[in-house]
Amino acid sequence: MSTETDSNGSITITRNRFVRFLFTNKYVQPTVNLLTVGIFFYAIYRAAVGPADSSTNFGAVAFFDLWWSPVMIISLLFLGRIWCFFCPLGAIVRFTQRFGLRRHFPMYTHTKWFVYGLPISILSLTAVTFALARWPMYKVGVAYTPSLIPYYWLPILGVAVGVSLVYQRQAFCRYVCPATGVMSVTAKLSPLEVAQTSETGVQCATLEYESEYLSTDRRCTACMKCTTERPDEDVELRFRWPGSKIVTERIPLVDEAIVALVIWAIFPIDHVLGDAVASTALVQGLPGLLTPTTAYLVSIAATIIGFTAVHRLASDWSGLEWTESFTKFGLAYAPLGIMYSLGAHVIGGLLESGGESLNVFANGLGIALALPAGVSPAIVSSWEVFFATGWLWLAVAWSGSIAWQVATTMTDSKRRALRAFVPHVAFMSACTFLVVLAH
Ligand code: SF4
Ligand code: SF4
Repeated sequence: MSTETDSNGSITITRNRFVRFLFTNKYVQPTVNLLTVGIFFYAIYRAAVGPADSSTNFGAVAFFDLWWSPVMIISLLFLGRIWCFFCPLGAIVRFTQRFGLRRHFPMYTHTKWFVYGLPISILSLTAVTFALARWPMYKVGVAYTPSLIPYYWLPILGVAVGVSLVYQRQAFCRYVCPATGVMSVTAKLSPLEVAQTSETGVQCATLEYESEYLSTDRRCTACMKCTTERPDEDVELRFRWPGSKIVTERIPLVDEAIVALVIWAIFPIDHVLGDAVASTALVQGLPGLLTPTTAYLVSIAATIIGFTAVHRLASDWSGLEWTESFTKFGLAYAPLGIMYSLGAHVIGGLLESGGESLNVFANGLGIALALPAGVSPAIVSSWEVFFATGWLWLAVAWSGSIAWQVATTMTDSKRRALRAFVPHVAFMSACTFLVVLAH
């Protein structure tokens, strides 16, 4: 490879001719998307007609054991929004919007709603769609009932097609996709960013924040218009301290902080609080799905209210400006949710049955594969011990270090920084202690 590391710690990956071809040839992404769209529909079909056991059903394995957990989470955490390049829904959106009405999506970013002094925009819709998309997986049982998978994906597909037939510029990807808000948050945690070296002058396909260059860090949907229309422009792989983007963010959005809190609520908090709420006599007496749904909503509401109360204390005590500090401290909580999901679902799942999942997926595509189902039970149980005693506390250390950086950059003395920091790190630690106890 003829790539070189530049003095600023980045690598110009397009110095390699093959990589430049991948980024700048306009047929590469459509070809990749033909494959991903094909697998998407095939997986829905196989989910419907395949075995009822989710661990042997191609569709269930493809969607929940491989796509949503390892592939999405690992790619988001290490390379920001790179998944959008491959995404079948994004490809369908780009295709269908050609035949649509091309209206402007109702934008409320200039007429924001103020809730408790915080400017909320249409981007908060992505926190709602993420919570809505996550709800059926375990509360209704879609993740372990393959026959329900078509009823899960086809409405999401219908909304994606419907929105793109009415609105222009990948409105579904910007405002509705359940993953888009999460990706905008996790992109700030990734140690790597893929980006063009400067603005290209190509009008962004989404007009998102006037972003005129490919970036896995911004709200770019990796449509590759920037690179295919300016093939002479270099693309870099940049290295950075994971989470530094939260500290240096020039346009902090309260909506993204809300998404970060919802991630924390849905993963670790709901496992503790949701289960406790669901076991109360009052909630257990509710009919049908109202029991898990109420517990789920309580977890989300309690997390946001709890954080807001802690931050009220921290900002009053340290004299911090409310809105910007709410946003940056809220984003600092993102590692707590992401690390929980990475440890419990991705690493735990791969150790326990990663080989079996790959076998089912490969065999379903006609490729013979016979990996061991997973590692030994002793390794799985060692991981579970480490998960509770070390991993979750590493998450607190990561979130705490981001919060400390935010505190020191937003204050003019160590004393004020400590006053902003201590309530948050105490809250993070107390909640994590409860999660560990319940694990
Ligand atoms: S924003 Fe969502 S739908 Fe659009 S390309 Fe990215 S993951 Fe896919
Ligand atoms: S910044 Fe470039 S690659 Fe990203 S969405 Fe806009 S046009 Fe597409």
